Amino acid sequence: MPLICGRNINFSYADKLVLDNLSFAIEEGQVVAIIGPNGSGKTTLLKIINGLLLPNSGRILIENKDTSQWLRRELAKAIAVVPQENLSIFPFYAEEIVLMGRFPHLGNYSFEHKKDYRIAHAAMEKTDTLAFAARRFDQLSAGERQRVLIARALAQEPKILLLDESTVFLDLKHQAQFLAMLRQLNQEQKLTVVFVTHDINLASSHADRIILLYSGKNYAIGSPAEVITAANIKEVYDVNVLVDQNPHSGLPRMTLFT
Ligand code: ADP
Repeated sequence: MPLICGRNINFSYADKLVLDNLSFAIEEGQVVAIIGPNGSGKTTLLKIINGLLLPNSGRILIENKDTSQWLRRELAKAIAVVPQENLSIFPFYAEEIVLMGRFPHLGNYSFEHKKDYRIAHAAMEKTDTLAFAARRFDQLSAGERQRVLIARALAQEPKILLLDESTVFLDLKHQAQFLAMLRQLNQEQKLTVVFVTHDINLASSHADRIILLYSGKNYAIGSPAEVITAANIKEVYDVNVLVDQNPHSGLPRMTLFT
C-alpha cells in the first residue's frame, strides 16, 4: 500500500483548471521530486497532499485514508511542510518558530515540556541554527530563515516531509549539509520526502523518482533516467539541453544550451 496515493485528481482555482486528472503513488521511504515549469501546479499539488486544499474530484489518500477524513492535528503530526514563502510579519524568535513544530504533539491547553525543547534544540543543531535561537525570525537572512523553517519541520518529527523550493536560499555548504541530513533521515527513519525544485540536476541526483508536471498533467513519472531526457525537457520547458551521465554518480546530468 503506497503511503501517498493520488487518484485522478482534478483541482481548479475558480474556473482555472490547475491539476488535470493527476494520478501517482509514493511509497513509504521514497524521495520524490516534483519538477515542471512555472505555473504547472507543483505548489498546488503539495497543498493537496498536505490536506490544505481538497481536490474537486478524484482522491488523495495518506495511509489509505482520504485527507478529508483525517483529523487536522493528526495530519499535522504526520506531514511537515517547509513552505516557499518564508517572510513572517510576526516578530517571533527563531526558537519559538522551531517550537511551533511541536504544537501538533501537545495535548489541549498544554505548554511545551522539556522533551519538546530537547527535540527543538536537536533540530536546531542539525540545521546549524542554534546560534540565532534568540534572534528575531524576521531579522534573519532568507537562507537563515529557511534553515529555521527546516528545523521547525524536523521538530515536528513527521512521517512525510514536503519541501517547496527549500534549497534556493541556502549557500553551498548548508545546501550540502541539508541534503546529507535528508538522506540520513530517509535511510535511518524511513522519512518520506517530496520536494519541489527548479533544479533538474538536484532532482536527478537526490530523488528516487521524479514527477514531471506540465500544465497540471502528469507528463512523466519514473526514475531520473526515465524522466530526465532531452526530449522530455524540450517538450515541457521548450529549451534545448544536453543530457549525459554524471561521471561521479552515473545519474542523468543536464546542461542547458545557450
Ligand atoms: P507552480 O508551483 O508549478 O509554479 P502553482 O501550483 O503555484 O504552480 O500554480 C498553478 C497555477 O495556479 C498558476 O497558474 C497560478 O497562477 C494559479 N494559482 C496558484 N495559486 C492560486 C490562487 N490562490 N488563486 C488563484 N490561482 C492560483
